Formats: sequence, structure tokens, C-alpha cells
Amino acid sequence: MSDPQRVVIVPCSGIGKTYGSVSREAAYDVTEDLRPDTTVLVPLSLLVLGDEAACAAVAGSQAITIDGCKLACATKMVKESGGEVAKDYAVLDVYRRYKQFKPQGIAALNEGGQQLAQALAEEIAAVVDDLSGGQHG
Ligand code: SF4
Repeated sequence: MSDPQRVVIVPCSGIGKTYGSVSREAAYDVTEDLRPDTTVLVPLSLLVLGDEAACAAVAGSQAITIDGCKLACATKMVKESGGEVAKDYAVLDVYRRYKQFKPQGIAALNEGGQQLAQALAEEIAAVVDDLSGGQHG
């Protein structure tokens, strides 16, 4: 979890909110499917709890945060934990760019929500590639 080469992906924990579910789904898409070798997922809940491994993974690392609303909990928490936020995404802003994918549902996202998460994940993967290529030569 503390590999400094990897870009840390932190989704917010907006449990019970559709946009929070999209943020987590996008984070899983990036860290499990699209860029498993160059990213690591750190759940916001572990940072909030002060989990040692999670805080160590974030401190001094480049992070991409995904927040479900303007409160931007993931972004704030990464900064408080000593991480550098290389890019912060707000799901609502992403949705404005992909209006064709209307997310609904909470525990299980509808197809629009999954497509929105996938579109966001692909944007994040491109940013990860830039960060990985630019920082570690
Ligand atoms: S950013 Fe918004 S949706 Fe996400 S955990 Fe914070 S308050 Fe909840």
C-alpha cells in the first residue's frame, strides 16, 4: 500500500449517495481494471480513522481524489494527511461533461451510473499515465 511509485486514488465515502457510489466505482475501475500496476486505492474511511498504512501511503505521494459533492472530503483529507493532490474530481462536474450517463441508485448503480464511472475512470487513467511517466523516469 505504501509503494511510492504508485499514484494514490482516493474516492470519497459518500455512502448512501449516488455520486459517492460513482466515485467508488470509478476508483475500483482504475485500480483493479485499468491501471492496477501504477495505482493504489486508499479508502477515505481509513484516512479518517488514522489508519497507519493508509496515511503512510498518502503522505508524500501524488493522489487523485474523487469527491461526491462540494464538501470534497477526500481532497481535504489527503491534504491533511500530507499527500499532494495532483488532480481532484467532483462527480457532479464529470456528470456535466457526460450528460448522457444519468446515474441512479445507491447500493447498485444503474447502467448510466456505471457508464459515468467508467468514463471518469478512463479520464483518471490518462492522468495516471501522465503522472507516472513524468515523475518516475
Ligand atoms: S464529498 Fe460529499 S458525498 Fe463524499 S463523503 Fe464528503 S460529504 Fe459525502
